[in-house]
Parts: sequence; C-alpha cells; structure tokens
Amino acid sequence: MPEMPEVETIRRGLVDTVLNKRVAEIKVLKASSFRNEADPRMACSVITDIKRYGKMLVIELENEFSLVTHLMMTGQLIIRENEVTLFSGGHPTRSLISALPDKSTKVIFAFNNSKLFFNDERGFGYVKLLETKNVAELDFIKKLGPEPPNDIDVFLQRIRKHKIMIKPALLNQSIIAGLGNIYVDETLFLSKVHPKSLTGNLNHTLLTNIYLNADKVMQLSIKHGGSTWRNYLNVQQEMGDFLNVANVYQKHGSPCKNCGAKIQKIRIANRGTHFCQNCQVLY
Ligand SMILES: [Zn+2]
Repeated sequence: MPEMPEVETIRRGLVDTVLNKRVAEIKVLKASSFRNEADPRMACSVITDIKRYGKMLVIELENEFSLVTHLMMTGQLIIRENEVTLFSGGHPTRSLISALPDKSTKVIFAFNNSKLFFNDERGFGYVKLLETKNVAELDFIKKLGPEPPNDIDVFLQRIRKHKIMIKPALLNQSIIAGLGNIYVDETLFLSKVHPKSLTGNLNHTLLTNIYLNADKVMQLSIKHGGSTWRNYLNVQQEMGDFLNVANVYQKHGSPCKNCGAKIQKIRIANRGTHFCQNCQVLY
C-alpha cells in the first residue's frame, strides 16, 4: 500500500505530465474498476487540477466533474507517448515496463498524443467519476483526519478522544492523515516517545511535537521520492530512497544514531514496530 509521500510523489508527476491536457477518450476495460456516477463521457474534459486527500488522488476536470483515484494495494498509473513511458508510479510489477494494455489494465485515458493507463493486478483500486461538488461528501474524505502541519487543533481534539497506545493512534487516518507504519515509527523516534505510550499520558507539548515531527518525516520522504519498501517506484521510475535516511524503520539490531543502543523491533497492534528503548520515553 502506498503511503502519503508515495502518493504525493505520483501527484507531482501527474501535474508535470497531464495537467491542462484534454482527455479525448476513455476506455473502460473492467467495469468494477470504474465507478461512475455519471456518463463515462463526462471524463472527457480538460484536467484543471490534481489534488490529494490522504492517499486518494482527485483529478479535477474543467466540466466540474472529478476522477477520484485510489491505488489501494496494487494500483499503477502509467503515461506513455508512442510506447515511451513519460512516467509510471505505483505497485512494482512488469506492467510498468511491458507493453500496454495488459491483463492488469482496467481503464485507459487517451489524450491527443499520449495515454494514461490505470492498472490494478488485484482489482481493489478504482477510479470514480463524480461531480466535483460531491467529492467533499465522500465517506473517505469526510472521515479523513487533518494532515500535518495543518489544523493541529483538530488533531489534538481527536487524539484526546482515544485512550490507546500512540502507535495505533497515529496509524488511524481519522486522527491524522497520511501516516503509515514506516512514518509512525520515524515520527515517534524524532519525538523521543515510546510507541507503547498511552495517548492519555501525553501532554500538549508532546502531542504538538509529534504532529510537527510527522510533517518533518513526510516532507523528508517526499524529498527522497518515497520509500523503497516493496520497491515502490515513483513517477520517473526511480526508486524512492527514503529508507536510506530512516532512523529506526527496518534498522533493528543496528546502533541508534543518537545513543548507540541497539534499535529494537516489537509488534504493536499487529504491526512491526521499531524504536530505541534508550531515547524513547514510555509515558
Ligand atoms: Zn537511542
């Protein structure tokens, strides 16, 4: 599953390649991957903006319709011009480099000189066509928590409603948007907070610090093109190299960069969790 920095990297790649282009034709190869609330021909308009809400991409069209895209586990977005890949992003399979369409191709958007392929091997991802004014009403977007560094008060309010460990709290997309396992571990290391700490024991300063550090970690990852975990590929088909600069994620057994103690790995809420038991305080 791509995390926020990977989806943001793809968003920026789409902005570079398809923004202001007109969708001339749409071909739906698998009906369940294209959830339209309108005539599919309404997708044929000029792309005026490409937004991101958490891990969801929203491609806005001039005719006031939008294409909401969720890559889920195995989605890919690939744009080609005469067989040449202008960019590709998403789950790493041979489809990123082989001839398209192939059996994973679900929807094709044709532009004047290029084509955008939505591929999805397992078929849990989708593109949804709906009126732009209805995007904010989608359940996923309505429930989505604030994304750091914005709306810190909303984050504080929401996290205080839960009396749970900080690790699962930060993975909950309705409390804070965009963080997955890698980024939660890195955020808690920077914040010097043990992942088993209870939210109720963390004061205003600690929670504020966690929220701002989450932004720092995600911005650093975007700068590095996302993480290489599961060989995530960004739009230029380069591997993201965030894991090279990670402090704790997948570093168990290695010395902590701050104190030299061995990084530990435990399981919390069924997720592999990496931390330094010397630097990170249990509250
Ligand atoms: Zn340490």
